Amino acid sequence: MSYKVTLIPGDGIGPEVSAAARRAVDATGVKIDWEIAELNPDIISKTGQSLPQHVVDSLERTGIGLKAPVTTPIAGGYTSVNVALRKRLDLYANVRPVRSLPGLITRFSDVKIDMVIFRENTEDLYSGLEHEVITDVVTSLKVITRTASVRIAETAFRFAASAGRKKVAAIHKANIMKLADGLFLRCCREVAQRHPEIEYKELIVDNASMQLVIKPEQFDVLLLPNLYGDIVSDLAAGLVGGLGVVPGANLGEKHAVFEAVHGSAPDIAGKGISNPTAMMFSAVMMLNHMGEQSAANRLQNAVEKVYSDKRKLTPDVGGTAGTAEFTEAVIAAVAERSIGGASPI
Ligand code: ATP
Repeated sequence: MSYKVTLIPGDGIGPEVSAAARRAVDATGVKIDWEIAELNPDIISKTGQSLPQHVVDSLERTGIGLKAPVTTPIAGGYTSVNVALRKRLDLYANVRPVRSLPGLITRFSDVKIDMVIFRENTEDLYSGLEHEVITDVVTSLKVITRTASVRIAETAFRFAASAGRKKVAAIHKANIMKLADGLFLRCCREVAQRHPEIEYKELIVDNASMQLVIKPEQFDVLLLPNLYGDIVSDLAAGLVGGLGVVPGANLGEKHAVFEAVHGSAPDIAGKGISNPTAMMFSAVMMLNHMGEQSAANRLQNAVEKVYSDKRKLTPDVGGTAGTAEFTEAVIAAVAERSIGGASPI
């Protein structure tokens, strides 16, 4: 059987890291018919749309996307590509697992970090509703709805229950935004009551940020509205080695798009030193979503083995290898694991 997947190579380091992830997935032996959907600032400027129809059509056909970062052109007033995609396909849940990697030296190497961030993906301050009331006075609308808040909370709790996780922490600023974050919290509490087996707690976002740095190992599942989710994701990425290693999934009822947390990193684009780990782990999430657990485990284990070996790591995580060398090492490790059989993580 062969799957159809939309591959969006993006721009900046996108083409390098997505090509590496594609090769690593193909090495697992899972048959994928990749449908390439090009999307970059040139195409956006030419079509006049941040999300041209050919990309939507492809994702509608396949239902699954592996997406590299795409830069939204600064001029022209385009909405962010990611925001447009998430809204258009109603990809309401942004899921980001943040885990320590074996052998990787970070400031937090002495603790085991293993948390999963559930970020609401469709509203909050990302509603794009900004208004200049009078000259030099601007408002930006924060939209929080019951429907979206319950949906993300249910997704987080169901995941926690099915993955054997113990705790969910809802993160908010309801002491200041009493109505908006207050509604988000009420929804989280209601959903928490339906899942008594999962320990539920609430943390104000500023305290949560400090706790994440002081004692990151205490966190299990984090549940956040859109903006706090964005900021806390980068903070959490910093605990485990940076943006190069944290993957993500955008999930809706009908579609799923997998992408790294990082952007197009123009500062290192074309230098052959970008770290494809985050894209490869996003592909692991994609394989799991497709029901290909054994291939997902093999790829995950292969990447972890390259980290344990330490010899083929990219500069962002303290190594001297290039993207190509790292990728070859992962592919070799996938092949080894295929002979030896998968070890579940
Ligand atoms: P965006 O606003 O699109 O999310 P950003 O401004 O947050 O992007 P990134 O493009 O994510 O920025 O890059 C932030 C920093 O992290 C840059 O210095 C970049 O080189 C580095 N970086 C990001 N991704 C990677 C990667 N895969 N490998 C190595 N370094 C990376």
